[in-house]
Amino acid sequence: MQSPQEYLAYLTQVSRNRHDAWWLVSEQTGTPESRRTKLMATLRFFGQEQRATELEALLDSEQLKSDLSPSLLGVVDQTARDLEEYLLPSEVEVFRRTVFGLLPLSAVDGFCVDRTPWGAKLDGYLVVLNEGLFICAQLLAKAFLLENLDGDLLEFKQPGVESYRRAIEHFLAPSAKHTNSVLFEGVPPDIEGALSAAQMQMTILLLQFVLLHEIGHAVHRDHELMAEYQFHVAGTQATVKQTERHWSAEYAADGYALERILGHTTADASRWANFVVIYVFFHWLSVVESVTGKPLCPLHPPPAVRGDALRKVMTDRVPLDSQTAALVEKSFKVLETWARLS
Ligand SMILES: [Zn+2]
Repeated sequence: MQSPQEYLAYLTQVSRNRHDAWWLVSEQTGTPESRRTKLMATLRFFGQEQRATELEALLDSEQLKSDLSPSLLGVVDQTARDLEEYLLPSEVEVFRRTVFGLLPLSAVDGFCVDRTPWGAKLDGYLVVLNEGLFICAQLLAKAFLLENLDGDLLEFKQPGVESYRRAIEHFLAPSAKHTNSVLFEGVPPDIEGALSAAQMQMTILLLQFVLLHEIGHAVHRDHELMAEYQFHVAGTQATVKQTERHWSAEYAADGYALERILGHTTADASRWANFVVIYVFFHWLSVVESVTGKPLCPLHPPPAVRGDALRKVMTDRVPLDSQTAALVEKSFKVLETWARLS
Protein backbone atom coordinates (compact mmCIF):
# COMPACT_ATOMS: atom_id res chain seq x y z
CA MET A 1 0.00 0.00 0.00
CA GLN A 2 1.27 3.43 -0.95
CA SER A 3 1.29 6.31 1.51
CA PRO A 4 -0.67 9.43 0.51
CA GLN A 5 2.59 11.42 0.92
CA GLU A 6 4.38 9.28 -1.66
CA TYR A 7 1.49 9.55 -4.07
CA LEU A 8 1.40 13.33 -3.62
CA ALA A 9 5.15 13.51 -4.31
CA TYR A 10 4.61 11.49 -7.48
CA LEU A 11 1.74 13.74 -8.67
CA THR A 12 3.81 16.83 -7.92
CA GLN A 13 6.69 15.47 -10.00
CA VAL A 14 4.41 14.61 -12.90
CA SER A 15 2.61 17.94 -12.94
CA ARG A 16 5.87 19.91 -12.73
CA ASN A 17 7.37 18.02 -15.64
CA ARG A 18 4.32 18.16 -17.80
CA HIS A 19 2.43 21.07 -19.34
CA ASP A 20 2.96 24.67 -18.55
CA ALA A 21 3.73 24.35 -14.86
CA TRP A 22 4.07 27.75 -13.34
CA TRP A 23 5.56 28.99 -10.10
CA LEU A 24 4.42 31.78 -7.95
CA VAL A 25 7.08 34.29 -7.16
CA SER A 26 6.53 36.93 -4.53
CA GLU A 27 8.43 40.15 -4.55
CA GLN A 28 8.72 42.33 -1.47
CA THR A 29 7.13 45.70 -1.88
CA GLY A 30 7.55 48.95 0.06
CA THR A 31 10.32 49.99 2.43
CA PRO A 32 11.42 48.12 5.58
CA GLU A 33 9.56 50.79 7.62
CA SER A 34 6.27 50.44 5.70
CA ARG A 35 6.53 46.65 5.86
CA ARG A 36 6.89 46.86 9.65
CA THR A 37 3.84 49.19 10.00
CA LYS A 38 1.83 46.84 7.82
CA LEU A 39 2.92 43.81 9.85
CA MET A 40 1.93 45.52 13.12
CA ALA A 41 -1.52 46.44 11.76
CA THR A 42 -2.00 42.84 10.62
CA LEU A 43 -0.96 41.47 14.01
CA ARG A 44 -3.27 43.93 15.81
CA PHE A 45 -6.15 42.76 13.64
CA PHE A 46 -5.57 39.16 14.71
CA GLY A 47 -4.73 40.11 18.34
CA GLN A 48 -1.25 38.59 17.89
CA GLU A 49 0.97 41.57 18.76
CA GLN A 50 3.12 39.42 21.03
CA ARG A 51 4.49 37.71 17.91
CA ALA A 52 5.91 40.97 16.50
CA THR A 53 9.59 40.39 17.42
CA GLU A 54 9.64 36.84 16.11
CA LEU A 55 7.97 37.84 12.83
CA GLU A 56 10.05 40.99 12.38
CA ALA A 57 13.20 38.87 12.46
CA LEU A 58 11.67 36.68 9.78
CA LEU A 59 10.69 39.72 7.71
CA ASP A 60 14.28 41.04 7.85
CA SER A 61 15.82 37.73 6.87
CA GLU A 62 13.40 37.09 4.00
CA GLN A 63 14.98 37.36 0.61
CA LEU A 64 13.70 40.00 -1.76
CA LYS A 65 12.27 37.43 -4.06
CA SER A 66 11.12 34.07 -2.86
CA ASP A 67 9.29 31.09 -4.24
CA LEU A 68 5.77 31.43 -2.91
CA SER A 69 4.77 27.80 -3.29
CA PRO A 70 6.51 26.45 -0.14
CA SER A 71 4.99 29.18 2.06
CA LEU A 72 1.65 28.68 0.34
CA LEU A 73 1.85 25.03 1.22
CA GLY A 74 2.53 26.12 4.82
CA VAL A 75 -0.66 28.22 4.89
CA VAL A 76 -2.72 25.40 3.42
CA ASP A 77 -1.21 22.86 5.79
CA GLN A 78 -1.84 25.05 8.84
CA THR A 79 -5.39 25.86 7.65
CA ALA A 80 -6.07 22.16 7.15
CA ARG A 81 -4.67 21.14 10.54
CA ASP A 82 -6.74 23.81 12.31
CA LEU A 83 -9.86 22.20 10.86
CA GLU A 84 -9.64 19.30 13.30
CA GLU A 85 -11.55 21.36 15.86
CA TYR A 86 -14.40 21.87 13.36
CA LEU A 87 -15.07 18.16 13.08
CA LEU A 88 -17.25 15.76 15.02
CA PRO A 89 -15.32 13.28 17.21
CA SER A 90 -16.39 10.44 14.91
CA GLU A 91 -14.72 12.17 11.93
CA VAL A 92 -11.33 12.79 13.51
CA GLU A 93 -9.88 9.39 12.60
CA VAL A 94 -10.52 9.93 8.87
CA PHE A 95 -9.12 13.45 9.19
CA ARG A 96 -5.88 12.31 10.84
CA ARG A 97 -5.28 9.85 8.01
CA THR A 98 -5.58 12.63 5.43
CA VAL A 99 -2.64 14.33 3.74
CA PHE A 100 -3.15 17.77 2.20
CA GLY A 101 -1.32 19.08 -0.84
CA LEU A 102 -1.34 21.69 -3.60
CA LEU A 103 -1.18 21.07 -7.34
CA PRO A 104 -1.98 23.01 -10.48
CA LEU A 105 -5.39 21.53 -11.33
CA SER A 106 -7.64 22.41 -14.19
CA ALA A 107 -11.36 23.02 -13.79
CA VAL A 108 -11.72 21.87 -10.18
CA ASP A 109 -10.94 23.52 -6.85
CA GLY A 110 -9.71 20.34 -5.28
CA PHE A 111 -10.16 16.59 -5.03
CA CYS A 112 -10.00 13.82 -2.48
CA VAL A 113 -8.85 10.28 -3.29
CA ASP A 114 -8.10 7.05 -1.47
CA ARG A 115 -6.44 5.28 -4.40
CA THR A 116 -4.22 5.91 -7.42
CA PRO A 117 -5.55 5.89 -11.01
CA TRP A 118 -3.99 2.44 -11.42
CA GLY A 119 -6.12 1.20 -8.55
CA ALA A 120 -3.55 0.97 -5.73
CA LYS A 121 -5.18 1.78 -2.41
CA LEU A 122 -3.59 4.54 -0.36
CA ASP A 123 -2.90 4.13 3.30
CA GLY A 124 -5.23 7.04 4.07
CA TYR A 125 -6.61 9.90 1.99
CA LEU A 126 -5.07 12.57 -0.18
CA VAL A 127 -6.77 15.95 -0.51
CA VAL A 128 -5.34 18.21 -3.17
CA LEU A 129 -6.22 21.85 -3.53
CA ASN A 130 -5.89 23.77 -6.77
CA GLU A 131 -2.75 25.89 -6.42
CA GLY A 132 -4.23 28.77 -8.45
CA LEU A 133 -7.15 29.05 -6.08
CA PHE A 134 -5.16 30.86 -3.43
CA ILE A 135 -4.47 33.89 -5.61
CA CYS A 136 -8.04 33.81 -6.96
CA ALA A 137 -9.42 33.84 -3.42
CA GLN A 138 -7.13 36.73 -2.47
CA LEU A 139 -8.21 38.73 -5.53
CA LEU A 140 -11.88 38.04 -4.82
CA ALA A 141 -11.44 39.08 -1.20
CA LYS A 142 -9.68 42.25 -2.31
CA ALA A 143 -12.52 43.08 -4.72
CA PHE A 144 -15.11 42.47 -2.03
CA LEU A 145 -13.32 44.48 0.67
CA LEU A 146 -12.57 47.51 -1.52
CA GLU A 147 -16.17 47.68 -2.71
CA ASN A 148 -17.58 47.42 0.83
CA LEU A 149 -15.39 49.92 2.68
CA ASP A 150 -17.34 52.41 4.75
CA GLY A 151 -17.17 54.39 8.01
CA ASP A 152 -13.60 55.61 8.68
CA LEU A 153 -12.38 53.80 5.59
CA LEU A 154 -14.93 55.23 3.16
CA GLU A 155 -12.30 57.43 1.49
CA PHE A 156 -10.46 54.27 0.35
CA LYS A 157 -13.55 52.65 -1.19
CA GLN A 158 -13.01 51.55 -4.82
CA PRO A 159 -14.86 49.47 -7.38
CA GLY A 160 -13.77 45.85 -6.97
CA VAL A 161 -14.53 44.74 -10.50
CA GLU A 162 -10.94 44.98 -11.73
CA SER A 163 -9.66 42.53 -9.09
CA TYR A 164 -12.73 40.38 -9.74
CA ARG A 165 -11.85 40.17 -13.45
CA ARG A 166 -8.25 39.37 -12.64
CA ALA A 167 -9.44 36.50 -10.45
CA ILE A 168 -11.31 35.08 -13.47
CA GLU A 169 -8.26 35.55 -15.68
CA HIS A 170 -6.03 33.82 -13.13
CA PHE A 171 -8.40 30.88 -12.72
CA LEU A 172 -8.47 30.29 -16.47
CA ALA A 173 -4.76 30.93 -17.07
CA PRO A 174 -2.68 31.05 -13.86
CA SER A 175 0.22 33.41 -14.19
CA ALA A 176 2.85 34.78 -11.83
CA LYS A 177 1.98 38.27 -13.07
CA HIS A 178 -1.11 38.26 -10.85
CA THR A 179 0.72 37.62 -7.59
CA ASN A 180 1.39 41.27 -6.85
CA SER A 181 -2.14 42.36 -7.82
CA VAL A 182 -3.42 40.84 -4.61
CA LEU A 183 -1.79 43.70 -2.66
CA PHE A 184 -3.58 46.88 -1.63
CA GLU A 185 -1.64 49.70 -3.19
CA GLY A 186 -1.99 53.45 -2.72
CA VAL A 187 -3.23 53.24 0.87
CA PRO A 188 -1.25 54.11 4.04
CA PRO A 189 0.68 51.11 5.47
CA ASP A 190 -1.51 50.75 8.58
CA ILE A 191 -4.68 50.65 6.46
CA GLU A 192 -2.95 48.25 4.10
CA GLY A 193 -2.13 46.00 7.07
CA ALA A 194 -5.72 45.97 8.30
CA LEU A 195 -7.05 45.31 4.78
CA SER A 196 -4.53 42.52 4.16
CA ALA A 197 -5.51 40.91 7.45
CA ALA A 198 -9.20 41.00 6.53
CA GLN A 199 -8.29 39.68 3.07
CA MET A 200 -6.35 36.80 4.63
CA GLN A 201 -9.31 36.01 6.86
CA MET A 202 -11.65 35.77 3.86
CA THR A 203 -9.10 33.76 1.88
CA ILE A 204 -8.67 31.29 4.72
CA LEU A 205 -12.43 30.92 5.09
CA LEU A 206 -12.65 29.98 1.41
CA LEU A 207 -9.78 27.52 1.74
CA GLN A 208 -11.53 26.06 4.80
CA PHE A 209 -14.72 25.63 2.81
CA VAL A 210 -12.96 23.90 -0.07
CA LEU A 211 -10.92 21.67 2.27
CA LEU A 212 -13.99 20.78 4.37
CA HIS A 213 -15.86 19.95 1.16
CA GLU A 214 -13.09 17.46 0.31
CA ILE A 215 -13.02 16.07 3.87
CA GLY A 216 -16.80 15.69 3.46
CA HIS A 217 -16.18 13.33 0.53
CA ALA A 218 -13.87 11.23 2.74
CA VAL A 219 -16.37 11.23 5.62
CA HIS A 220 -19.20 10.30 3.23
CA ARG A 221 -17.05 7.57 1.65
CA ASP A 222 -17.48 8.89 -1.87
CA HIS A 223 -14.21 7.33 -3.03
CA GLU A 224 -15.56 5.21 -5.85
CA LEU A 225 -16.82 8.42 -7.40
CA MET A 226 -13.91 10.59 -6.35
CA ALA A 227 -11.29 8.31 -7.88
CA GLU A 228 -12.54 9.53 -11.25
CA TYR A 229 -11.67 13.13 -10.44
CA GLN A 230 -7.93 12.74 -10.60
CA PHE A 231 -8.08 12.75 -14.36
CA HIS A 232 -8.16 16.51 -13.95
CA VAL A 233 -4.62 16.76 -12.67
CA ALA A 234 -2.48 19.10 -14.74
CA GLY A 235 -4.67 19.67 -17.72
CA THR A 236 -5.91 16.17 -18.46
CA GLN A 237 -9.52 15.80 -19.46
CA ALA A 238 -12.25 14.05 -17.56
CA THR A 239 -13.16 10.85 -19.31
CA VAL A 240 -15.97 9.68 -17.06
CA LYS A 241 -19.65 10.22 -17.60
CA GLN A 242 -21.48 12.40 -15.15
CA THR A 243 -24.25 10.70 -13.24
CA GLU A 244 -26.90 11.74 -10.72
CA ARG A 245 -24.67 10.24 -8.02
CA HIS A 246 -21.83 12.66 -8.73
CA TRP A 247 -24.07 15.66 -8.30
CA SER A 248 -25.71 14.45 -5.10
CA ALA A 249 -22.27 13.69 -3.64
CA GLU A 250 -21.23 17.28 -4.43
CA TYR A 251 -24.32 18.83 -2.84
CA ALA A 252 -23.79 16.66 0.22
CA ALA A 253 -20.11 17.70 0.50
CA ASP A 254 -21.07 21.39 0.17
CA GLY A 255 -23.72 20.96 2.86
CA TYR A 256 -21.19 19.22 5.08
CA ALA A 257 -18.63 22.02 4.70
CA LEU A 258 -21.20 24.74 5.44
CA GLU A 259 -22.52 22.77 8.42
CA ARG A 260 -19.08 22.47 10.01
CA ILE A 261 -18.34 26.17 9.45
CA LEU A 262 -21.68 27.21 10.95
CA GLY A 263 -21.06 24.88 13.88
CA HIS A 264 -17.77 26.60 14.59
CA THR A 265 -19.30 30.11 14.50
CA THR A 266 -21.20 31.47 17.49
CA ALA A 267 -23.21 34.51 16.32
CA ASP A 268 -25.87 34.33 13.60
CA ALA A 269 -24.62 37.60 12.05
CA SER A 270 -21.13 36.02 11.70
CA ARG A 271 -22.69 32.86 10.24
CA TRP A 272 -24.30 35.02 7.57
CA ALA A 273 -21.05 36.94 6.98
CA ASN A 274 -19.23 33.62 6.48
CA PHE A 275 -21.94 32.37 4.16
CA VAL A 276 -21.72 35.54 2.04
CA VAL A 277 -17.99 34.88 1.45
CA ILE A 278 -18.78 31.33 0.30
CA TYR A 279 -21.62 32.61 -1.88
CA VAL A 280 -19.29 35.19 -3.48
CA PHE A 281 -17.08 32.26 -4.46
CA PHE A 282 -19.84 30.19 -6.11
CA HIS A 283 -21.29 33.24 -7.82
CA TRP A 284 -17.83 34.03 -9.19
CA LEU A 285 -17.36 30.44 -10.44
CA SER A 286 -20.66 30.71 -12.29
CA VAL A 287 -19.42 33.90 -13.97
CA VAL A 288 -16.21 32.05 -14.91
CA GLU A 289 -18.44 29.44 -16.57
CA SER A 290 -20.40 32.07 -18.48
CA VAL A 291 -17.09 33.58 -19.66
CA THR A 292 -15.87 30.22 -20.98
CA GLY A 293 -19.34 29.28 -22.25
CA LYS A 294 -19.17 25.73 -20.90
CA PRO A 295 -19.28 23.90 -17.56
CA LEU A 296 -15.94 23.91 -15.70
CA CYS A 297 -16.44 20.31 -14.69
CA PRO A 298 -19.47 18.25 -15.72
CA LEU A 299 -19.04 16.08 -12.63
CA HIS A 300 -20.10 19.06 -10.51
CA PRO A 301 -23.53 20.74 -10.52
CA PRO A 302 -23.50 24.32 -11.89
CA PRO A 303 -21.84 26.62 -9.31
CA ALA A 304 -24.84 28.99 -9.26
CA VAL A 305 -27.10 26.11 -8.27
CA ARG A 306 -24.65 25.01 -5.57
CA GLY A 307 -24.55 28.55 -4.14
CA ASP A 308 -28.34 28.78 -4.14
CA ALA A 309 -28.67 25.40 -2.42
CA LEU A 310 -26.50 26.73 0.41
CA ARG A 311 -28.48 29.96 0.49
CA LYS A 312 -31.62 27.93 1.05
CA VAL A 313 -30.00 26.10 3.98
CA MET A 314 -29.12 29.48 5.48
CA THR A 315 -32.59 30.95 4.98
CA ASP A 316 -34.25 27.86 6.48
CA ARG A 317 -31.95 27.54 9.44
CA VAL A 318 -30.13 30.72 10.46
CA PRO A 319 -32.14 33.71 11.75
CA LEU A 320 -31.43 36.95 9.92
CA ASP A 321 -31.89 40.30 11.69
CA SER A 322 -32.78 43.35 9.64
CA GLN A 323 -29.33 44.96 9.88
CA THR A 324 -27.54 41.80 8.66
CA ALA A 325 -30.23 41.29 6.02
CA ALA A 326 -29.44 44.72 4.58
CA LEU A 327 -25.70 43.88 4.42
CA VAL A 328 -26.39 40.51 2.77
CA GLU A 329 -28.70 42.18 0.24
CA LYS A 330 -26.06 44.82 -0.50
CA SER A 331 -23.46 42.09 -1.14
CA PHE A 332 -25.78 40.28 -3.56
CA LYS A 333 -26.31 43.54 -5.46
CA VAL A 334 -22.54 44.03 -5.79
CA LEU A 335 -22.24 40.51 -7.21
CA GLU A 336 -24.89 41.22 -9.83
CA THR A 337 -23.03 44.34 -10.90
CA TRP A 338 -19.75 42.44 -11.24
CA ALA A 339 -21.41 39.68 -13.23
CA ARG A 340 -22.84 42.25 -15.65
CA LEU A 341 -19.45 43.93 -16.08
CA SER A 342 -17.47 40.73 -16.63
ZN1 LIG B 1 -16.49 17.59 -4.55
